Amino acid sequence: MAHRYGVFSVAASAVVVSALAGGLLGRSALATDTRQQDYRTFTEALSAVELVDQSPIGRTPRSNPVTYIQAFDQIRTIFASTPSAKVHGFKPGHFSFNVPGGRCEACEGDGVVRVEMQFLADLFLPCDVCKGTRFRKDVLDVRYHGKNINDVLGMTVAEAIRFFDADPMGRRVAEKLRVLNDVGLGYIRLGQPAPSLSGGEAQRVKLAAHLAMPARGQHTLFIFDEPTTGLHFDDIAKLLRCFQALIEAGNSVVIIEHNLDVVKCADYVIDLGPEAGEGGGMVVATGTPEQIVAAPGSYTGRYLREVLKLGEDAGGGRVAGGTKAQKGNGGHGRNGGPGGSGGARTNGASKANGGSRGTRGLRDTGGS
Ligand SMILES: [Zn+2]
Repeated sequence: MAHRYGVFSVAASAVVVSALAGGLLGRSALATDTRQQDYRTFTEALSAVELVDQSPIGRTPRSNPVTYIQAFDQIRTIFASTPSAKVHGFKPGHFSFNVPGGRCEACEGDGVVRVEMQFLADLFLPCDVCKGTRFRKDVLDVRYHGKNINDVLGMTVAEAIRFFDADPMGRRVAEKLRVLNDVGLGYIRLGQPAPSLSGGEAQRVKLAAHLAMPARGQHTLFIFDEPTTGLHFDDIAKLLRCFQALIEAGNSVVIIEHNLDVVKCADYVIDLGPEAGEGGGMVVATGTPEQIVAAPGSYTGRYLREVLKLGEDAGGGRVAGGTKAQKGNGGHGRNGGPGGSGGARTNGASKANGGSRGTRGLRDTGGS
């Protein structure tokens, strides 16, 4: 394989997603052009294209983060192996809310019942029979280290990691849950119903699932649509580390993003513009972040210059996925446009980078 591409960043609208994903999945039109040798080499080397967007991970309350990353099977097996489960003859299936057996049949394991409202969105109310616990009473009496299955589903990811890590039998569960923590979701509950997750949370659960179940020997192109939406600064650093993990596993990452702390970490940037909406859609500049900065007429370059310069001034090490150097970033709550993070300060205190110019974590691992 001639190339392995690392992180691209596209400061542009989400329209790019459909064009890019559609084109790559089709893999036809562009690839027939002989001038597109690089493109063809690249697409032929791809085993899959994954669009990681903000659409829900499921439509029903029975879909949740722990089922999505496939850690619930192991949790159910652990419960079925407890002495009290064996006394009752409970199998892993009894601890599922997807099949009859151990679940509350009044709500079919949802824990809530849907109330249809004539002129409003449907309401979900706690189930009268199980009081929202989703299981039969005798199933709830089964405890593993003092907790029943509903208690476990009510734990936050961070709590559950500590809980399962304390016992050799639970280590594999803790390991899987750790990726949810790695993507900044330590605060969500294992059994949090899919419809209650925000778009950004759903997107990060999907990212976690890809990190938890790496396809060996595959070269997948991941496309992320505005992944920093709603994220705090520390969580953006976590996200960058996750992208790096995908790249180190042999994959490539395309990110549609306005956030300059992400853009500056890219190997290659395609700046679309010059304006938003109607006034945009043109390729304004392409290249490394430095080349974007040097490109005349690139608004992104103008703001990017400031972000790169601030990193240099503070000691050379730019903030990369592997550092937690980002502080003092007041007013960084949104990533509306280049200006949204124009005021971002990176104090560049990244020891790991040793002050070497151009070490941006993601960037250096991309090439091969
Ligand atoms: Zn119920």
